Amino acid sequence: MLDSGTILTGMGVGLGSVAAEVFRVRPVASLPKAAKHSGDEALELESLKTAIAAVSLEMNDLAEKAGETSAEIFEALIMLLEDEELFETASAQISQGWNAGTAFINAVEEYADIFAGDTTFEERLNDIRDLARRVAASIAGISLGLDIPTTGRFVIVGEDFSPADTAQFTQAVVGVVTIQGGPTSHTAIICRSKSIPAVVSCQQAKDLVDGMQVLVDPVGDRVVVDGQESDITEALSFIAKSEDPIIPVRANIGSLEDAIAASASAAEGVGLFRTELLYLSAKTQPTKQSQATSYTEILKAAPAGPIVVRTIDAGSDKPVPFLDMGDEENPALGVRGFRLIENHRDFIVDQLESLEMAREQSGREVWVMAPMVSTYSEAIEFAALARESGNFKVGIMVETPSIVYQIAQLAGALDFISVGTNDLSQYLFAADRMNPSLGAMLNPWQPALLRALEQIAAVSQEAGVSSGVCGESASDPAFAVVLAGMGFQSVSSSRSQVGIVRQALSSVTKEQAKEVFEAALTGLDADQAKSAALAALAAISAK
Ligand code: PEP
Ligand code: MG
Repeated sequence: MLDSGTILTGMGVGLGSVAAEVFRVRPVASLPKAAKHSGDEALELESLKTAIAAVSLEMNDLAEKAGETSAEIFEALIMLLEDEELFETASAQISQGWNAGTAFINAVEEYADIFAGDTTFEERLNDIRDLARRVAASIAGISLGLDIPTTGRFVIVGEDFSPADTAQFTQAVVGVVTIQGGPTSHTAIICRSKSIPAVVSCQQAKDLVDGMQVLVDPVGDRVVVDGQESDITEALSFIAKSEDPIIPVRANIGSLEDAIAASASAAEGVGLFRTELLYLSAKTQPTKQSQATSYTEILKAAPAGPIVVRTIDAGSDKPVPFLDMGDEENPALGVRGFRLIENHRDFIVDQLESLEMAREQSGREVWVMAPMVSTYSEAIEFAALARESGNFKVGIMVETPSIVYQIAQLAGALDFISVGTNDLSQYLFAADRMNPSLGAMLNPWQPALLRALEQIAAVSQEAGVSSGVCGESASDPAFAVVLAGMGFQSVSSSRSQVGIVRQALSSVTKEQAKEVFEAALTGLDADQAKSAALAALAAISAK
């Protein structure tokens, strides 16, 4: 039991704070392995029937909530679930000795083999497999969902949350604490964009239990047991000296809701539209038309200025169900981002073509970029595809150390580069961004990252390629000043940080930003670099 006043340290996300009750999210249970039954076939048949009925009810409920278009999909699924032939196939499996859950999963797989090649059926296959999992879960008496409360005010505490988990956050989630996950994890990204105060990589949070009261104090990088709002740590304040920031501040978005919210901020356009976030739970590949419709809506809603759209960055921490990427031992080093061009070229081309349709329909200025580019050839291949598909400015993300050394050779081929510091840190330090014990290496104030960024800004300038930063580091107002001091021409921040980042960048001249950057370079570790930069900023604001 943690005493009142105990301080749990982690890494803060955002500048807001909240005091509320703890809700521990149980880890999502995994399904039991395939197994035989004990010999009572009648009992297995009975439990299969009961589970099918229960899942049907669940589906009916979802259909009611889902509105007309999706309701039809649910109805079709319920018909399949209750299909007599499928039940017969499962019964035959039970007769062969398989328990009810395994039998139903096997039966669905038999169906899948029979209908292989039937494109309509294949499109639905993942949905049907999901049904089979639900039936098996119901038989095993386990829940596959997160079970987050929908009313009240809670700080939810868990190991870490995947993008699909964060999509289930309800209104009742007012604060988030994760035991694992680092400052660049998706929990951090989503919380920052939704202005949910969070502390990640807080290992002592394993001792928090339901019903405790905590203060989530991101500025102080801490969680305080029984803390009050009055105990929060004050954030550094910036006094704007000019109306406009020294470089444009754009917003990062991942949905229509984000685009609308970003429009209410002072963002000058969008510096990163993470398109994969639209498809994290899509079981089937969206058509070109449906993509064009979604993109048009989002482009129309986005804040005035250019909109930088990233083609799908699936894989590793962002699995996209309809893109089968197989199981990889080491997905962060595997086939992800633009490497999908090998097996999913059609999707990337579709995406670029539907973005062109959306560009025409919205009348907006669209820039496109590919994620996870590591070679000159990949960059050239993407540039050619993008220029064939539409009237865009074309760029790449700089997220791997290898591409840093070829930016100069890409002069003329690219219009811009955008640095993804989340992944660049991961690959520069060989430190998995999902690993909580490596959070310190992912701190953007690490001197090696600062020097890598300095080099990227300089070579881009020499090559005549416009450069920006869109990783989470650009959401830290003091760090954004350092980036401007290095020579980057824009930053893109989480939408909730746009105001404060603009303020910081309006409180200094370009020369002063350079002084802050040079001060940061005197640090031999991340803490020293940050303190030196903050001291330089404080001295400037005292002038
Ligand atoms: C990055 O890696 O910094 C980035 C912006 O991309 P993501 O966080 O979506 O991987
Ligand atoms: Mg990235």
